[in-house]
Amino acid sequence: MFPRLSANPMLEERTGDKVVVPPPTGRPYPVITASRSQLAQTMHAHGLAGGRCFVVTDDNVAELYGAEIETSLTDGDFEVSMQIVQPGEAAKDLEIVSDLYRWAFAEGVDRSTPVVALGGGVIGDLTGFFAATVLRGVPLVHVPTTLVAQVDSSIGGKTGVNHVSGKNLIGSFYRPTFTLADTEMLGTLPDVEWRNGLSEVLKHALIRDAVFYEWLRSNWSDVTSRSSALVPELVSRAMSIKIDVVAQDEFEGGLRRILNFGHTFGHAIERIAGFGTIGHGAAVALGMRAACWLSADRGRSVPLTEVDAMLRDLTPSRLPRMPVDWLLQSMRRDKKRIGDTLHLILLESVGRAEIVTDATDSELRAALDFALS
Ligand code: ADP
Ligand code: ZN
Repeated sequence: MFPRLSANPMLEERTGDKVVVPPPTGRPYPVITASRSQLAQTMHAHGLAGGRCFVVTDDNVAELYGAEIETSLTDGDFEVSMQIVQPGEAAKDLEIVSDLYRWAFAEGVDRSTPVVALGGGVIGDLTGFFAATVLRGVPLVHVPTTLVAQVDSSIGGKTGVNHVSGKNLIGSFYRPTFTLADTEMLGTLPDVEWRNGLSEVLKHALIRDAVFYEWLRSNWSDVTSRSSALVPELVSRAMSIKIDVVAQDEFEGGLRRILNFGHTFGHAIERIAGFGTIGHGAAVALGMRAACWLSADRGRSVPLTEVDAMLRDLTPSRLPRMPVDWLLQSMRRDKKRIGDTLHLILLESVGRAEIVTDATDSELRAALDFALS
């Protein structure tokens, strides 16, 4: 086991493979690393009695794990109704939420019907929003199946869908009853999705945990090739960092903003490249290259060559044309902007993030030039 990260020991309780996310208010919820075969019994243990149970998933995950999850829930006295949506970001749509409401009412949803989100970040966001709003909230269980979802999006309670005006503009914070992550399910992930997730893993290390960064660096080729011996520890360590941050700042009032490292640049890159042209993880890796360059340029002690080599492994070799002027304009419009000030996350050193509000256009331009070179 690795050291506890929480500054306040009252905030975190760790028992075996279970870490409790202790919210500043209200009930805590556990993030459990366990086999999917334990889903039904874990639901029972958390007060979700048998009876009607809804599962939302996508075509790919249903094909791989749908039957198995359904059987294990049925064996655990649940009467399963499964809804399968199309894979990909387009499913985060109010029309699809509306279809889910229709299905739930037709199937007799009541306030105690648990909803299981079985899939990646898209399924977690969509299903979380549905569970938060149907009948003003029913119990939600996350079973994240991608690396991004296990270490990032299923932890912290953000749920939501996209809107024609932009990504993730509609949503709410909604706590699951628990999250169950089975790292074995990552074995079937396409390589591109593994690398997408590695961006967020490396981000967590860079902003919060120098020891984990060193672990990643020294195992980097096994990490990128997904050596199965390393996966459980990698997920567990990356998860702990997210838990530690959101436990201290559930609603993104302060500390949680450091999770935006690489994202202000990255969101602009996603937007200008055209959503879907470049993966979120790849865009964030490019964004972190820009942010690391700027941190080093400002005299911070960041081993730029070493970090940059790792980040390059997470970005595509050929990039679409992205004029720096457009990227700059897009960054200045980022929704994370507070008032007129751009809040940019940089590194003070590996493992320590800082928020800067005085980045000039010429600095941002030079950082982007570096990242796109
Ligand atoms: P993310 O988790 O990166 O936000 P998605 O939810 O869109 O993104 O998942 C990425 C893709 O991976 C989707 O096509 C999804 O169907 C697929 N997927 C999710 N989990 C698995 C898995 N365990 N094995 C194989 N493919 C998966
Ligand atoms: Zn991200």
